Formats: sequence, C-alpha cells, structure tokens
Amino acid sequence: MRLRPETRAVHSAATDPSSGAIVPPIVLSTTFEYETTGLEQDPDQLIYTRWQNPNRAALESTMAALEGGAVAHAISSGSAAMLTIFQALRPGDHIVSSDDMYFGIRVQLNEFFAPWGLHTTYVNMSDLDAVRAAMRPETRLVILESPTNPMIRLADIAAIADIAQEFDATLLVDNTVATPVAQNPIQLGADIVVISLTKYIAGHHDVLGGVVIFAEDGELAQRVMRLVRIGGGVLSPMNCWLAARGLQSLSQRVRAHSESALEVACFLAEHPKIEQVLYPHHPSHPQYELALRQMALGSGLMSILVKGGRGSALELVNRLQLFTNATSFGGTHSLIEHRESIEEGSSTPANLLRVSIGLEHPADLIADLQQALA
Ligand code: PLP
Repeated sequence: MRLRPETRAVHSAATDPSSGAIVPPIVLSTTFEYETTGLEQDPDQLIYTRWQNPNRAALESTMAALEGGAVAHAISSGSAAMLTIFQALRPGDHIVSSDDMYFGIRVQLNEFFAPWGLHTTYVNMSDLDAVRAAMRPETRLVILESPTNPMIRLADIAAIADIAQEFDATLLVDNTVATPVAQNPIQLGADIVVISLTKYIAGHHDVLGGVVIFAEDGELAQRVMRLVRIGGGVLSPMNCWLAARGLQSLSQRVRAHSESALEVACFLAEHPKIEQVLYPHHPSHPQYELALRQMALGSGLMSILVKGGRGSALELVNRLQLFTNATSFGGTHSLIEHRESIEEGSSTPANLLRVSIGLEHPADLIADLQQALA
C-alpha cells in the first residue's frame, strides 16, 4: 500500500515481535551477536552500534521516505551533518553557497575547510544570474537554505537545480526551516537534503541531531556513509528514538506552527512600531509568489525589523512574557532572539529579531506582543 507521509511516520516501526509493544524499544546495546562470517555475508547486519543500530535504521528509513530520497544517514547534529559532507569532498573542489544561511556553516567553510583546500564562493541565491556566474568547472557542490535563517529569503530550488545540473554539480538544500511537510527539495531537483533534527523534527527542544538524505545512493552518499561509520559522528539510539517519535506528530505540529505564525505575522505587519515582517506566506514578503509555488506552508519561523533600531528591538525582547529569549526554533515554546548579538561576523540588521512561533494559542502570543509593543 502506498502510504501518505502522516501514516508512514506513525507506522515507521513495526510492532516489537518479542513483546507486542507498539512503541519500539530503545536499543542501548553497543554490540550485537552476529554470524561468524558477519560483514562478508551482509554488510548491513547489526554488529556494532557505530556501524548501525535499530533505532538509527528506523529513523533513517523514515526520513528517506518522507523526503523522497534513496538513503539517509543520521548524524550527531545538523552542523555535524554538513561537516561530514564537506569532509567527503576533496581538496581543490569548489562550493557555491548561499550568502545568507545559518552562520555556523559559513564558519566551518571559512575557518576549517578553506585552509584545507575547499574554496567557497558566496552568492545571493535569489539572483539566478549571480548563481550561474559563480559556477566553475571544479564546482562540486551548490548549497542553499530556503527559507534562509535569519533573513527568510527564498531560493528557486528547481531553477538552481537546473543550473547545478548544467555544471555537473550536486545541489544540497538545507530543509530545516520548511521540513518535508512544507517543501520537497528532491522533487524539485535537489540531490541532497540536510535537516537539523534539533528543530521541527524532534520538535520539543530536547534533542540535538542531524540527517543527510540522498536522492540516489551514489558515490558521495557512499563516502558519507563510510565517514559516518568509520568516523563515528552518529546519532545516539536515544536521540534517534526521540526524533522518530517527533516524526509521528510532525505534520500536525508544522501545520499548527504555520497557522499561528501567519496570524502573528498579519498582526505584526499592521503594527506601527514594526518596520517589516519577513514571513514567506505573508503577502508583503518580496518572494510571496515563489513561497506559494514552492512551500505548502509557511512554517513557524519569521524575522521582524523593529522601528527605532537595536535599542527598540532589545527592549521588545525584554518586555515579552510568553516568548523566551532563547536561540533555536521549531519547538513547542515560542522563542525570540536578537540575531546580530549571537552570530559570529554577523551582517544581520541590528533591529532584526528572529521569532519562532511555538504551539501556544496564537491569541495569547498576539496579546503578549501587543502589551510588549504598547
Ligand atoms: N541548519 C539551519 C537552518 C539551522 O538553523 C541550524 C542551527 O540553528 C543548523 C542547520 C545546525 O543544526 P544543529 O544546531 O543541529 O547543529
């Protein structure tokens, strides 16, 4: 039977045959009894948990299915997932990357991989001519986030996939903000999807994790698998179990986050103390048309520019009662953060606040914003 994503996520693990438990056990054993000739017979059989573990295998196969990929690898964080892909490239390879993305990835590329011979050109991914102009014969990888964190810019994934293909390069899309509920980069032509499980997938602010999904189990996917298994940056069984549990309610949570976020965005867009709201599904977003075409839902992440500059933005954060001044996004609690203060080498506007809408009632969130802006 061809299952829809919601059904697939709930039924990702079979009933445990030894007990009848419908919730899969967390397999903490690091070592497994195996056939004497082990790996020769079956390279995927359970031997040692760094190599493979039942909780990891279940999470990986569900993530691959939800993103429409052939294979997935669960890694210790979203950042480590990106690091593993960069390690799988070779000195002399060239990367074209979005100039607006989670700042930690830029730090990895500039501080660690540039001296190692992996060079990156940063471009505005909303400008297709700039993307094309940045491509070189040695470009192996094109990286984009859509929407970006924190400027909430979109990139036309299908158009950039065409450019990457023309130059024989691999397109990687960070789908952390949109999630497979709202956007399917592989269907749009991407070769690799990376997701920080820390955000919407686990969804409760209690798991750090990442996953890489490959459209095809080709050479790069195999190299990443070797790096994960030999290098050992794997996701623990407990975190795999928690992330897999999060997947069961992902679709409903992302819908609720998105509906509330749109209500909050509409309120803020009309408020005289707010200069601009950046939210993909709000009609004032400069790429609203692309958002409607590419994203089924707007997700729970937005940024706002506060009139009066840095001081007014910080004051707003301090006056809020339900929004916690904390980093990250995609969980149950609404969070707000002055990004310029925490990003290394930030070019984010000083009056920008990134807002993650949680699962509270939107009317309560709006009332809190109203009193804080009064
Ligand atoms: N990708 C995006 C879009 C992010 O916002 C983040 C972290 O904030 C990451 C990747 C890195 O994920 P992690 O914190 O799990 O290492």
